[in-house]
Amino acid sequence: MTTEVQVSAADPQAAYLEELVRHGLLIPMGVPGLYGRSGLFEEVVERFDAAISRHGREDGAEVMRFPPAVNRRDFETSEYLKSFPHLAGTVHSFDGSERDHHTLLRRLEEGEDWTAMQKATDVVMTPAACYPIYPTIAKRGTLPAEGALVDVFSYCFRHEPSLDPARMQLFRMREYVRVGTPEQVMSFRESWLQRGRALMESLGVPLEIDLANDPFFGRAGKMLSANQRDQGLKFELLIPITSTEKPTACLSFNYHQEHFGHLWDIRTPDGELAHTACVGFGMERVALALFKHHGFDPREWPAPVRALLWGRD
Ligand code: AMP
Ligand code: ZN
Repeated sequence: MTTEVQVSAADPQAAYLEELVRHGLLIPMGVPGLYGRSGLFEEVVERFDAAISRHGREDGAEVMRFPPAVNRRDFETSEYLKSFPHLAGTVHSFDGSERDHHTLLRRLEEGEDWTAMQKATDVVMTPAACYPIYPTIAKRGTLPAEGALVDVFSYCFRHEPSLDPARMQLFRMREYVRVGTPEQVMSFRESWLQRGRALMESLGVPLEIDLANDPFFGRAGKMLSANQRDQGLKFELLIPITSTEKPTACLSFNYHQEHFGHLWDIRTPDGELAHTACVGFGMERVALALFKHHGFDPREWPAPVRALLWGRD
């Protein structure tokens, strides 16, 4: 017997969301894209996280864990606002007098906009787990000959409210980030394209890897997207979750060339600008793909998939 969800509703994304909520895996919080997770959902995320670690262990990446936010100055330096102003989330806080406080409370009571009484803090939500890495590596000075390889894992914020459960506003990204010469960075990405495919194939989900582009903002963004595709800078591993025609990007393989090296002046020992690449695993998306293809009860998942996730570390 299969517990695979039969999506028949007009909107298969909303229908899958409804199923996930009914099975208690996602807990609605009243805003599209903002959910609690059940213990079972978290267990799948944790087991997948451990499987990633096993696949990457031999490389000896340096582990760093950051809160889901970055320093506002670093965020400005990253030029994120040039490309994705529509996705950014800044943290604001009240910083006024007692009188301002009264005004704030009055506006709140009267259902008026009170948020204008808030001021931007020095904290910005991180849009991708790798963002705190670049300034951190830059502060260490010139790279050693072997470059740098970092393992990061963080909740990330993107303002893209949606009824698609695979498009959340707060979601987790596990990443490996490589900083070094173009050769080091390219060979890193190549090896993760293969490992990522092998890992996901062993989880028994249908997949394909394809050229991709980021959702750059505005008219200039169209050119950036085309350029990114022409140069083969981004690949995604896609798994059908709520649509076979439009499968969902669950892993990303990004080559930034010298973009971040230039912004933070990260140099290799020969004085050249460092290149960077990252492989990002969308943890919720992978969990959603597993529940979709193997059913809502992991005890009934295929034995090899169970062994891979729940086997020895
Ligand atoms: P990106 O930096 O856009 O390539 O994102 C890296 C990975 O994060 C993607 O491959 C997705 O698996 C995941 N991801 C991106 N945006 C979202 C989102 N809104 N909700 C859930 N996962 C996401
Ligand atoms: Zn990244």
